[in-house]
Amino acid sequence: MEDRIAFDLWGDVIPEFKERALETIGDLRPELTRPAILRELILAPAPGRWIMIAQNLEWDTVRTLREQVITCFAHPQAYQAGYGPSDRDRLKECPVHRLFYGGVLGCSVCRDWFRWLR
Ligand SMILES: [Zn+2]
Repeated sequence: MEDRIAFDLWGDVIPEFKERALETIGDLRPELTRPAILRELILAPAPGRWIMIAQNLEWDTVRTLREQVITCFAHPQAYQAGYGPSDRDRLKECPVHRLFYGGVLGCSVCRDWFRWLR
């Protein structure tokens, strides 16, 4: 059995919609208290203020959420779970799935796709 590959969704908060962004993160990461979310936001390196919106998602969920959160996050980006914007320099991006991934095996969503075609 193959390991299930999970994904994290990150984005930078649009300042005018900060309140909605905080609520969104609160809904999607219920383990975090509001002060904890605010602390993550304050500690996020500028510019960009990238913050994790949700984690350990299935790919279908990533695709749906990425479209939903654009109302309060400027550039929602999908990462292979465990990676984030601070790893960008050592990651590759799949242009088809707009997914950042590490490792030498390529985009895991592309690999899944080819498995279905066989
Ligand atoms: Zn891909």
